[in-house]
Amino acid sequence: MLSSSQLQARRVAILGATGSIGTQALEVIDALPHLLQVEVLTAHGNADLLIKQARKYQPNAVVITDESQYARVKDALSSLPIKVFSGAAALCEVVAWDSVDVVLAAIVGFAGMKSTLAAVRAGKRVALANKETLVVAGEQVMLEAWQNKARILPVDSEHSAIYQCLLGEELERVEKIMLTASGGPFLGRKPNYLVNVKASHALQHPNWDMGAKISIDSASLMNKGLEMIEAKWLFGLDNNQIEVVVHPQSIVHSLVQFTDGSIKAQLGLPDMKLPIQYALCWPHRAPNNFKRFDFKDYAQLSFEAPDLRTFRNLTLARNAMEQGGNAPAVLNAANEVVVAAFLQNKIGFLEMSDIIAETLVQAAHLEKPDLEALEASDTEARAIAARLLEEKRAAFY
Ligand code: NAD
Ligand code: MG
Repeated sequence: MLSSSQLQARRVAILGATGSIGTQALEVIDALPHLLQVEVLTAHGNADLLIKQARKYQPNAVVITDESQYARVKDALSSLPIKVFSGAAALCEVVAWDSVDVVLAAIVGFAGMKSTLAAVRAGKRVALANKETLVVAGEQVMLEAWQNKARILPVDSEHSAIYQCLLGEELERVEKIMLTASGGPFLGRKPNYLVNVKASHALQHPNWDMGAKISIDSASLMNKGLEMIEAKWLFGLDNNQIEVVVHPQSIVHSLVQFTDGSIKAQLGLPDMKLPIQYALCWPHRAPNNFKRFDFKDYAQLSFEAPDLRTFRNLTLARNAMEQGGNAPAVLNAANEVVVAAFLQNKIGFLEMSDIIAETLVQAAHLEKPDLEALEASDTEARAIAARLLEEKRAAFY
């Protein structure tokens, strides 16, 4: 069993501390104060919560990336020995500090890529929640991680499950992985129903309590599409080794099948604190008092194939993964644009896939983009998706 004398408290920088993953990470730290301590907290717009968190955890520094909120945060913390920075560039500086042992990358979307990459370049241990970074630039990020001896520990529950299943195994003996998907709030629904659903409806996930963007991604199955691409790069898999299976109870977090036909799975209650803790404490398993799984609460665990005709995002993501180059970056950018529009009830649920598909057709394809070209692709795809969105709205009104 792990005791505090075996491990010095790890100093954690939480990027995106005010979000769903960030706040759950702080709960994990609350439960393991002898193993984990807060070094840096960052947020974009929620200055009030950041101030509250800073007062409680007394980190060395905080970063508020929305510069208009800097004065408020600085004032509120002026009596405390806490450094206050603002702007996105500050994120890339603080993650490289010697006093940071682990960086939890929990900013949502492409906005999290530069700081994640900065942590990788600084050779840090990176607990990675921000899957969009690997979707956009998985090949480059994994190469830089290898070059800089940065270890990336997945926080996404499916990838944490696969990571745990692979311990002690040879990668070349993996036949395939099966990523489990809950199916989201619209499991079993058909297009004639989905055409009318609103954001408030799509935000009601049956098993997980998450940020707005990933909740919509889960409802549209784009989340699983992004996770296929994330898995490809994290575990060095071929496209045909990655399968998706719908498992509505979200107890089996994913499975790995080996070349002898044997399958390993990792199970647990749907609680992100478990993969967050695992990534922060790895390779140790720290004891905790979180609620346990009880077979008596689950009469059955079921599995089914995803409905690809209704949930087209899964196919769009697979095609982008197979096409490679900048296609996943274009897919991701278009998705961020349409999800933001859907959250504001500016477009319908099914129109999200229409616009993503059309953006993939219209954006210039690049076979071997570097990071700069991927950033340019992100900008281009956002502009195309925004124009398509306006055209759709103009045609409607
Ligand atoms: P969230 O929206 O709840 O929180 C996002 C955080 O990022 C906030 O702290 C916000 O201040 C910060 N942020 C937003 N825009 C920013 C910007 N432009 N610059 C700097 N900071 C910014 O999101 P979340 O649900 O916690 O998800 C975070 C990441 O983790 C996503 O990539 C998501 O896919 C992934 N993830 C989340 C869950 C979950 O259960 N929530 C599970 C698996 C993976
Ligand atoms: Mg996941």
